[in-house]
Amino acid sequence: MFDLLSLVRPNIRAMKPYSSARDEFQGEAHVMLDANENSLGSAGPELFNRYPDPLQRAVKAELAKLKGVAENQIFLGNGSDEAIDLLVRLVCIPGQDSILVLPPTYGMYEVAANLNDVRLERLPLTPDFQIASETIAQIVASDAKIVFLCSPNNPTGNLLHAEAIEKILRGFRGLVVVDEAYADFAAFPSWTTRLAEFPNLVVLQTFSKAWGLAGLRLGMAFASPDVVGFLNKIKPPYNVSEATQQHALAALHDAARFEQMREQLLIGRNWLAERLPELAIIEKVFPSDANFLLARFRPDATAVYEFLVARGIIVRNRTTQPGCAGTLRLTVGTPSENEQLLQALQEFK
Ligand SMILES: *Cc1c(COP(=O)(O)O)cnc(C)c1O
Repeated sequence: MFDLLSLVRPNIRAMKPYSSARDEFQGEAHVMLDANENSLGSAGPELFNRYPDPLQRAVKAELAKLKGVAENQIFLGNGSDEAIDLLVRLVCIPGQDSILVLPPTYGMYEVAANLNDVRLERLPLTPDFQIASETIAQIVASDAKIVFLCSPNNPTGNLLHAEAIEKILRGFRGLVVVDEAYADFAAFPSWTTRLAEFPNLVVLQTFSKAWGLAGLRLGMAFASPDVVGFLNKIKPPYNVSEATQQHALAALHDAARFEQMREQLLIGRNWLAERLPELAIIEKVFPSDANFLLARFRPDATAVYEFLVARGIIVRNRTTQPGCAGTLRLTVGTPSENEQLLQALQEFK
């Protein structure tokens, strides 16, 4: 019942992708005069005079080993935000189609829908930020083209129950995008382990969080080779720069540092999760499988937010998000930053 070809926009099925010089000739020759590059070199301290590999093969080879997927199940983008935008454009006809989101959740799904003139349908999570069984039924009955499931969810920090996601994967006719930006902090296997079972599954991950490379802009989408093929067809030819590809390779060879930071952030999260609930101004700290904690403050979260700003500590005010009244989202920092945050909150009057 899931049929990718009938889901993809007809104009995208029919179009011929741009064929770059680097698509037509791969590798290095003695004299490279095919791409209007500058053979003399580069301004600035490093050489970037050649166009990068449009399909980022070296990075994907390393990632495939690390993630246990095939190289043709990996799409790389300029942040996962690029993958979100391309997915919407791949299957949604502007002015006609819709996507589903489950608030409170990440804001970029809505931005991508608005940018592309795609209708957004909101099906709220339960008060404990899970997917109600009526909501599963609504999703399965919907003819929206994509449902975005963020797990662990931003800004709430919790994993969505696997049974609910599985029911949606089995019943929904569109793409099921599981955004795992925070998967590295979660005590649950990634949905990438289930790709072979579900042709409609797309898993998003990123180098922006646990890898500590938000400034690099590199996001990953894992999906069937067919979905990945279509994303490659519609992406800008050189969407991931040579600098990014080189740096990503270096990062992947430095897995020990990744592991060490991840462990330290988990320790920081537990440290804060133990101490924050002791504060009188905190009503509740929500359980987190991410590198942040959502906390409900009383009586006035925004006053706490402003107090922290005045102390030079910036957190995310989530009080206006559906189901998040009175909450602030606190990113886990260095041990010293965590102590400063706790200290400031203890001094709030
Ligand atoms: C941070 C975050 C991302 C990462 O986006 P990038 O464009 O890769 O930096 C994606 N999804 C969610 C839910 C996030 O919180």
